Amino acid sequence: MIQITLPDGSIKSFEENSTPMDVAKSISEGLARNVISASFNGTTVETTTPLTTDGSLILYTWNNDEGKKAFWHSSAHVLAQALEELYPGSKLTIGPAIENGFYYDVDFGDHVISDKDFKTIETKMLDIARGKHDFNMRAISKAEALETYKDNAYKTELIENLEDGTITFCDHSTFTDLCRGGHIPNTGIIKAVKILSVAGAYWRGDENNKQLTRVYGISFPKQKELTEYLHLLEEAKKRDHRKLGKELELFTFSSKVGQGLPLWLPKGAALRERLENFLKKAQKKAGYEMVVTPHIGQKELYVTSGHYAKYGEDSFQPIHTPKEGEEFLLKPMNCPHHCEIYNSSQWSYKDLPKRFAEFGTVYRYEQSGELHGLTRVRGFTQDDAHIFCTPEQLDQEFKNVIDLVLYVFGSLGFENFTAQVSVRDLDNPDKYIGKAENWEKAEQAIINAAKDKGLNYVIESGEAAFYGPKLDFMVKDALGRQWQLGTIQVDYNLPERFDLSYKGSDNESHRPVMIHRAPFGSMERFIAILLEHTGGNFPLWLVPEQVIILSISEKYEKYAEKVLNLLENHEIRALVDHRNETIGKKIREAEMKKIPYMVIIGENEEQENKISVRQHGGDDLGAITIEEFAKIVDTEIHKTLKQF
Ligand SMILES: [Zn+2]
Ligand SMILES: [Zn+2]
Repeated sequence: MIQITLPDGSIKSFEENSTPMDVAKSISEGLARNVISASFNGTTVETTTPLTTDGSLILYTWNNDEGKKAFWHSSAHVLAQALEELYPGSKLTIGPAIENGFYYDVDFGDHVISDKDFKTIETKMLDIARGKHDFNMRAISKAEALETYKDNAYKTELIENLEDGTITFCDHSTFTDLCRGGHIPNTGIIKAVKILSVAGAYWRGDENNKQLTRVYGISFPKQKELTEYLHLLEEAKKRDHRKLGKELELFTFSSKVGQGLPLWLPKGAALRERLENFLKKAQKKAGYEMVVTPHIGQKELYVTSGHYAKYGEDSFQPIHTPKEGEEFLLKPMNCPHHCEIYNSSQWSYKDLPKRFAEFGTVYRYEQSGELHGLTRVRGFTQDDAHIFCTPEQLDQEFKNVIDLVLYVFGSLGFENFTAQVSVRDLDNPDKYIGKAENWEKAEQAIINAAKDKGLNYVIESGEAAFYGPKLDFMVKDALGRQWQLGTIQVDYNLPERFDLSYKGSDNESHRPVMIHRAPFGSMERFIAILLEHTGGNFPLWLVPEQVIILSISEKYEKYAEKVLNLLENHEIRALVDHRNETIGKKIREAEMKKIPYMVIIGENEEQENKISVRQHGGDDLGAITIEEFAKIVDTEIHKTLKQF
């Protein structure tokens, strides 16, 4: 008998050579129907792998990431079989599962695959899937493996790099592939398939190698799930921040200015300013002080901070002065500058914490291929702040920062978020700097704070920075996609490197602890995520134009101007569409611009001294007075925007 430990801690006895599927059956028939993969003692196994020793077993279903991975990995095998059968002579290379689906890189020879072929491939895949073929792993000697693939230089290269005795093949139906394992029980579970796209990909990612064709696909256990996924993709396309940014006239890029360097248009700049002011106001209440530092710093500054040693080579190279031979770097981070601000005075424990905040623009080199809209850029502005406190104050300061971050998320409509506490890998203590007891304290402080604030959090061991543990916030947007937003980090390294100190109550000199934090992360990235989350329908307090006044004809221009003035008196951001266009056209365009309220003005409105209000999306509020409207706007604003 062997002893199997399950995730809930319970231990059950099984006959030797029982499989994960046997274990599932012993728990429930329902579970056995849904189990699609398993891991044993931390290693992925097949659901049919005979277990021969005691150990911990985790069973995965479609609802686990591991389950999806096995599902998509297995689907890649089915794709490979379909391609081989449809396009004889194709040479298969590699085909992994990815975050959403899978791909296979294939050398199709002279054959060109296009979207016209997708339907045929899908049909073939489903045909194979319906055969309910089991996936069977088998060990194979290196010599035999090389013989099997003697006509495929790619697989041969892969096999050459493997050690004899560790090589395995996976068979299903009439198809065999070189594979390490991790499959669903049989192909019959794959009920829906979609080929998404094809792209060029170099063998092993090296552009000196031959270009292959990468075929992307996704599959699901239910047709309904595929339909939902495709709908989500459509929605995501509509919400692409690059598209919305253009439509809403927020930002642009210029190849003359340079790639990865966003240019903010007036409406975008106004939006940024409103976001900045919103955070500045809350920060002021939380005891932060604003500072301003330059966009460049001497190379020595970053040698001291350690950034140069770590990133110098792979970053923008130093700027030289023409005469003095000085070297400057574009600022990649604000922290070193803030350390020097701290160092410009002597502090006692009574002065701490010091909280220095700056909307600091930083520059980081990204390869041109990595650049993407506002989410991957070469110059961006962090809503940065550094808190310098005593070790005793760390706990409270951390909690205060969480409060601020939660306030920011709440005001911007991000309700669905999780937190990740990143701590040391205790098996590798040499990877980290700073005293073990400080780490212990800081990690505990973060965990306590997360608990105290009722956060939904996970602890990830080994994910801490080398200089301290951190708390990262992940938000789910309206389409259920995960984004990493704000981060809070504890740092023992920079205070050491910059020799920061304060005088304690014992009159001795002590090292402060430093907290780095940025609730938005960066203005660019945050606005991109906010655009995709809201589809451009920003919260009313933030939107560049809250109201557009549309007059039915030129006759009512004067009244339109009067309404504009009155709305402005109520601090409502409004504009008048003066153009000589039909009201229908004006409404359509205002809808396109996603302006939350349209105020329509004609003869009745002027006579009754009222306005007709229409909401973005079509709801009519009827004819009301300006005061009534101002109240509606105010109520809506304060539904999301609360006092900090
Ligand atoms: Zn496989
Ligand atoms: Zn920092």
